[in-house]
Amino acid sequence: MPDQKTLDARTAGADAGPIRFFDLETPKKMLRADIEKRWQKILDHGAFIGGPEVGELEAQLAGWAGAKHALAVASGTDALVIALMGEEVNANDAIFIPGFTYNATANAVLVAGATPIFVDVEADTCNMDPAHLEAQVEAVVREGKLRPRMVIAVDLYGLPANYPAIHKIARKHGMLVLADAAQSFGGAQNGVRIGALTDMTATSFYPSKTLGCYGDGGAMLTDDAARFERWSSIRWHGTDAVKKESIRVGVNGRLDSVQCAVLLSKLTVFAEEMKARDRIAQRYRQGLGNSVKMQRVPEGYQNAWGLFTVMVENRADIMKRLQDKGIPTSIYYFKALHQHRAFAAHAPKGGLPVCEKLADTVLSLPMHPYLTDGQVDRIVAEFKAVV
Ligand SMILES: *Cc1c(COP(=O)(O)O)cnc(C)c1O
Repeated sequence: MPDQKTLDARTAGADAGPIRFFDLETPKKMLRADIEKRWQKILDHGAFIGGPEVGELEAQLAGWAGAKHALAVASGTDALVIALMGEEVNANDAIFIPGFTYNATANAVLVAGATPIFVDVEADTCNMDPAHLEAQVEAVVREGKLRPRMVIAVDLYGLPANYPAIHKIARKHGMLVLADAAQSFGGAQNGVRIGALTDMTATSFYPSKTLGCYGDGGAMLTDDAARFERWSSIRWHGTDAVKKESIRVGVNGRLDSVQCAVLLSKLTVFAEEMKARDRIAQRYRQGLGNSVKMQRVPEGYQNAWGLFTVMVENRADIMKRLQDKGIPTSIYYFKALHQHRAFAAHAPKGGLPVCEKLADTVLSLPMHPYLTDGQVDRIVAEFKAVV
């Protein structure tokens, strides 16, 4: 298994090398022999669906997070949809989601047949604003049409949402909390890892996420045995434990053995990768200092650093000049949810001012575990020269 020395050897002397926004190449080279061995085993046993790799991965994911149960599913979006289906949500159920996130969070609510209520975010953490959540819940209660049912908290860029404050509001109104941890697997809050922070957690193994496979994948985590049983059934067409009868409406939400094998291999370096992401983020933060606004990390929060994001006014200009210096940057996201045509019908009156402002100003810098200190210093220097 590759250890820290191997990681160092891979990146040593690479300071002058090309800077990638994400790096799928280095871990692929590092783990290729191990992954091929695991794939050969699957070719031998032939259990392409539901092979031993699936259960092995689920046990390791639950173990990593400190959750009682983990279920491997076909994507992060499926994880969200299955979690919503598991609570039998309908159009009368209000599901509160932040207005600044990937479109999958809103799609999942609508695909599951529930009603999304968009909540504004905080300008500094970029995560759901508990004060606005409370205001939105109270507005729904006052209006008396929908039942407040669930909060989906998104850990944007890898930073855990404010679960303590969100729980307080959710419990007061009898709501469940689902973590959309697609960007934050590997992070933690007050010593508790993502996956064990709330009632239900959904994550994604899309190749560029903190833990990524070589295709689509995702997982769901919970401590609740009955909920886990429902999820397992829904993932497999809603069948009973012996897969003879459909006992509820389900989907094909399975994760293939070959993807589980990739993730088992990736998990052998995951702890080291998370340490490297943190080292790189701290170097960025120290280097950038007060030159730019950055995502705030509250005390006791361990950001998984899925992305490293700053807020700037002259974004297009900065992107162009960094690009000319060989430094790729990216925008997550160009629009707040209610600004998309598909979700405009759910736009709150008066919009979501903080979400809208972030959509105009956020800029993500290269972030992956294989950036060298020298590369980070180069990015910092070029950024400060143009900002
Ligand atoms: C990536 C992502 C998803 C969707 O995950 P897929 O595996 O691509 O379906 C959902 N929510 C957020 C916040 C994401 O970043």
